[in-house]
Amino acid sequence: MSDLRDLYQEVIVDHSKRPRNFGKPADVHQHADGHNPLCGDTVTVYLTVEGGKVADVSFEGRGCAISMASASLMTEAVKGKTVAEARAMFEHFHRLVTGKDEFPDDALDKLAVFEGVRDYPVRVKCATLPWHTLVAALESRAEAVSTE
Ligand code: ZN
Repeated sequence: MSDLRDLYQEVIVDHSKRPRNFGKPADVHQHADGHNPLCGDTVTVYLTVEGGKVADVSFEGRGCAISMASASLMTEAVKGKTVAEARAMFEHFHRLVTGKDEFPDDALDKLAVFEGVRDYPVRVKCATLPWHTLVAALESRAEAVSTE
C-alpha cells in the first residue's frame, strides 16, 4: 500500500510541476474561472466543444500541487469525451474523493491518484476545483466558481 501511495505521490508531483494542456489557446470558445479561497488556488478552464464532444480543453492557474495536478489530469481525462461523459466523470471523481465511491472504473484509472485526499476535507476542495470549473465552462457560466 505504501508503494502505491508513493507512486500516487510521484504522479501528483509530476503533473503539478509539468502540467499537461497548460495555457490559453488562441481560439477560445468557452471558459470559466474557479477559485478556492481556503487554499488560494485559482484555475481558468478553456474549452472547445464540437459535435457534443470535448474537442479541446486546457487550463491556466496557480495553486497547490493537488489543484494543479488535478487540473492537468482532468484535461487528459476529458479530452475527446462527450459532454455527458465529462459530466459523469466529474460526478464519479467527486464521489471518489469524498469517499462515497470505492476505486474508480477503468476510465478514471489515473484519477485514482487522488484517493488519498479523501482523508483531508480541505484538500478535497483543491482536487475538485478544476472539475467544478470545467462544469461551469461547459455551461458557459460567466460567474466565477468558488468552492466556498
Ligand atoms: Zn489547494
